[in-house]
Amino acid sequence: MTAAYDALRSHLHKAHLLASTSALLVWDQETYLPKGGGDVRADQLALLAELQHERATDPRVGDWLAACETDARLQHDADAIANVRGWRRDFDRATKLPSKLVQELAEVESKAQQAWAEARARDDWRKFRPWLDRMLSLQQQKADCLKAPGQSRWDALADLYEPGMNAAMLRELFAPLRQALVALRQKLATGTAPDDAFQRLPIEQTQQEAFVRAVLAAMGFEERFGRLDRSAHPFCTKVGADVRLTTRFHPDNVLDALGSTMHEGGHGLYEQGFEPAHFGTPLAEAVSLGIHESQSRLWENHVGRSAAFWQWCWPVAQKHLGSKTQGFTQEQVFRTANLVQPSLIRVEADEATYDLHVMVRFELEQALIDGQLGTGDLPHHWNRLYYEYLGIAVPDDKQGVLQDVHWSCGLFGYFPTYTLGNLYAAQFAAAADKALGGLPGLLERGQFATLREWLRRQIHRHGRRHTPAELCQLVTGAPLSSAPFLAYLEQKLAVVYGL
Ligand code: ZN
Repeated sequence: MTAAYDALRSHLHKAHLLASTSALLVWDQETYLPKGGGDVRADQLALLAELQHERATDPRVGDWLAACETDARLQHDADAIANVRGWRRDFDRATKLPSKLVQELAEVESKAQQAWAEARARDDWRKFRPWLDRMLSLQQQKADCLKAPGQSRWDALADLYEPGMNAAMLRELFAPLRQALVALRQKLATGTAPDDAFQRLPIEQTQQEAFVRAVLAAMGFEERFGRLDRSAHPFCTKVGADVRLTTRFHPDNVLDALGSTMHEGGHGLYEQGFEPAHFGTPLAEAVSLGIHESQSRLWENHVGRSAAFWQWCWPVAQKHLGSKTQGFTQEQVFRTANLVQPSLIRVEADEATYDLHVMVRFELEQALIDGQLGTGDLPHHWNRLYYEYLGIAVPDDKQGVLQDVHWSCGLFGYFPTYTLGNLYAAQFAAAADKALGGLPGLLERGQFATLREWLRRQIHRHGRRHTPAELCQLVTGAPLSSAPFLAYLEQKLAVVYGL
């Protein structure tokens, strides 16, 4: 390689080490940190963020990048081209924001999040509203720094999470999807809903844990490079060479523990699937949040909520959950896992209504960021859209506009990546089914390694080599569409609801 490339790689490798050290401290904070450690932990994280930002925005990075971009010797090295492109994107992003704005954002994010938690606990929208106003104004300033000529503010923010995606493309994807999902919800109301008794069954936490650990191991999550713990909100984070997952257990909902574990396990397999040789470079990083979410949704839903999976899983459940499984059948539990019930809370939503929750947020946050909607009218419009899309009345703001942490943390343009994840997952699952001669046959025999290795070859090992749109085209031979997702849902739910 060239001197500039080597200097860049070694300099940014250290920035990466700082970031992964922060990830470890955050993981600890969410799992094992004693209450008294919180204040110092916040200082530790702030210091690491400052050091990392200094390193990432060092003017020498700009010089090295310019040297790499004009060096003919690098133009035939696909790995180097991909890394330089990734580093360039990160550098431009980091240097476009003035440090005063970055500091103010960090401070308001932390305070707004606290205000949000209190407001939600007390169902007091008015307490949170001034913080949301302040956050919105900062996000608008941030978007103005980031946006390219002609780009809208919302698009500039969304591009941080899903490179290349914008509101116009999302509207085109979402409009027919919304109509179809609303129609599906209405059609299912005429079918036979599954019984939900298995979902309400009290089961010891130790039994639940043994069960989900067995499934995670069967998925191929490597314990040598990862671990599973508990936290209030399940998450997955990469800490250097290893991946930390968390899950949660309710006394009476083993299917929630299974779904959370398979979801985070899917994220974990993606993080474990990068090439170790590229550690610390864009080639060993996730290409986008939508693609990351596709890996979790694929395992949680296309695998974990399929009839074929339950053929394999039922004996495993019987082994670990023992007498609790008596009186139930594999067929019954498969149907329970696919119960559709329009509900108020996004994170508890089923597969058929989840994306309607996302669309409510997508519509509102665009109007907020673009200044067409003020926060005074937000709860009213939130409730109106819930009635229109999900057919339910929102009784209070706690279960309405105050339910998600995202806006208080400054995450605008983020919500659509959840639905993109669902759409990518369905398109990838259909491609895998075709390439591997039928997924159900593999799943009912527990041959998850075949699917995992296919995902690793097709998606994981590429890191940020391609854009999300290029990756989708390469893996599935087509641009992203909602058709595979709708076909999959309609087919499965017709069986579950006896339609
Ligand atoms: Zn996820």
